[in-house]
Amino acid sequence: MPSNPVAPRPHAVVLGASAAGLFAAAALTEFADVTVVERDVLPEGPEPRRGVPQARHAHLVWSGGVRALGELLPGLVDDVVSRGGRLVHIMGDMVSRAPNEVWFRRFLATHHRNLVCSRDLLDSVVRDHVLKSERVTLLQDTAALSLEGDARRVTGVRVLAGGGEERVLDADLVVDATGRGSRAPQWLVDLGLPRVTEREVDAGLTYATRVYRAPGTTADGAFPLINVQANPAQAPGRGGIILPVEGDRWIVTLGGTRGGEPGPDPDAFVPFALGLADPVIGELLRDAEPLGRVTVTRSTANRRRYYEKLKRRPDGFLVLGDAVAGYNPVYGHGLTVAAQGALAVRHVLRGTGLTAPGTAGALQRAAARPVAGAWDLAVGQDAFYPGAADTPPTVVERLLARYVDRAVATGARSPRAMGALLDVMSMERPPTRLFSRDMLVPMLFGPKRPHLDGPPITEAERRAARS
Ligand SMILES: Cc1cc2nc3c(=O)[nH]c(=O)nc-3n(C[C@H](O)[C@H](O)[C@H](O)COP(=O)(O)OP(=O)(O)OC[C@H]3O[C@@H](n4cnc5c(N)ncnc54)[C@H](O)[C@@H]3O)c2cc1C
Repeated sequence: MPSNPVAPRPHAVVLGASAAGLFAAAALTEFADVTVVERDVLPEGPEPRRGVPQARHAHLVWSGGVRALGELLPGLVDDVVSRGGRLVHIMGDMVSRAPNEVWFRRFLATHHRNLVCSRDLLDSVVRDHVLKSERVTLLQDTAALSLEGDARRVTGVRVLAGGGEERVLDADLVVDATGRGSRAPQWLVDLGLPRVTEREVDAGLTYATRVYRAPGTTADGAFPLINVQANPAQAPGRGGIILPVEGDRWIVTLGGTRGGEPGPDPDAFVPFALGLADPVIGELLRDAEPLGRVTVTRSTANRRRYYEKLKRRPDGFLVLGDAVAGYNPVYGHGLTVAAQGALAVRHVLRGTGLTAPGTAGALQRAAARPVAGAWDLAVGQDAFYPGAADTPPTVVERLLARYVDRAVATGARSPRAMGALLDVMSMERPPTRLFSRDMLVPMLFGPKRPHLDGPPITEAERRAARS
C-alpha cells in the first residue's frame, strides 16, 4: 500500500529582520517555515545597529498600529510596557500644535493610546517574540544579492554570508523587507520584468535628534509628549518633538524643510528649538542635560513603489514595509503600515494558502491598502512644500487640504471631532471618517469656543521639567 505522505510545509524567505520583516515572519509562520535573512548581526537586547539608523530618532506607534501588533503578536505590547514603554493617551498626555498652528486641547474622552518607547526597545521585544518560534530560522550576517527564477515565478534568493560564501535559498515565497534601500526594482528588471512605477514627494526635511536626561516627572503622572508640528503653508516648515522614553530619557527630534534644516552642531540644537513657531520645546530643554551628540538624517522623503499595479509580476515574490513606501517620518506611520500589512497578508493566506497561483499578487494588493492610507495622509500635506513634487497639487488636493485644515481646527475644540480626526491619524479608520457626522456636526454647528493661545502644558509640568 502506498503511504500517505504529509506534504512538506511551504518555505518562505523574508529579507530584512527589522519591523516589516519580523512582522511578516510572524504572519507567515501560520502557513510556512520561515527563514529570515538579515545583513546585520542582531544585538541581544535593546541596542543600536547599523541597518536601522533611523532608530536614533523619535519613533511612536499610533493606536491603529498598536491594535495590529496586538492581533499579530499577542502579549508584545504588554511586554514593551513592562520594560519601560508607555501607552500614551492621545490627547490627554500630549501637548501638540497642529500644522495649521492651532493647539489641540488635552481632551480625555478619546480612546486612542500610542505606544511610546525607544525604537531599540521595541525592536528588541519584537525580535524576542518572533525569533523564538520554532518555525523561524534566522540567517544573520547574510545579505540578499538577487532573486532566483524567471519572470513568471521567483523560486528563491541568492545570498552572501559574512564569511564570503554565496548560496541559493529555495523558497515558495520570497518577501523583500529590506527597507528604503531595497533593490527589488532592479531585481525584477533582471528577471525580464518592467521597472515598477515610483513616485516621490520630498519636503526636503532634515531630522536632528539628541537624547537628554529627563529632567523630572510630575507628581501625578509621566511627562507628556510635546509636539510642535511644521506648517506646510509657511515654508520652510520647522517642528519638533520631545518623546519621553524608558530609562528616564527624552528623545528630542527637531526637523526643518529646505532652507530651514537643523544641523549637527550641538550648540545650535536648543536655539533651533527656541526658534520654532512656539518656543516650548526649547524652553523645556534649556536646563536639561544632553546625553550624547546630535544625529542627523535626510532620509525622509515620501517615496512609493506601486508593486500592486505591476501588469506582469512573478509569483512567489512580495515586497513589504519601507521597501514599498517610506513616508515623511513626522507622520509616524511606517510601523503601523508594516503591522497592518502583515495582518493583511495573514488574512489573504487564511483564504488561499501560500502556494496557490496568483497568491503573491493578491498579497501585494492587500498590503497596498494601509500603504495607500498613510501615503495619502503624508502627501496631502507635503505636496504643498515648494519643490516637493514634479507637479503642483491639483485642485482636488487643494480642496481636500483645506478641508483637513478645517477638520483639524474643529478637532482642536471638539472632543467628538477630535475622536474622528484621531481615528484617521492613528490609522484605525479610513480617511472617509473625516466626513462622518462626528466631524461634520461640530464643524458646522460648533462648539465655537476659542482656540488656545498657547501650549496646554501645566505649571506643574513646567516645574517638573526644571527640577
Ligand atoms: C527618521 C525616521 C523616523 C521615523 N519615525 C517613525 C515613527 O515615529 N513611527 C513609525 O511608525 N515609523 C517611523 N519611521 C519609519 C520606520 O522606521 C519604518 O517604517 C520601519 O523601520 C519599518 O521599516 P522596514 O522594516 O521596512 O525597513 P528598515 O527598518 O529600514 O529595515 C530594513 C532591514 O533590512 C536589512 N537589510 C537591508 N538590506 C539587506 C540585504 N540586502 N540583505 C539582508 N538584509 C538587508 C537591514 O539591515 C534592516 O534590518 C521613521 C523613519 C525614519 C527614517
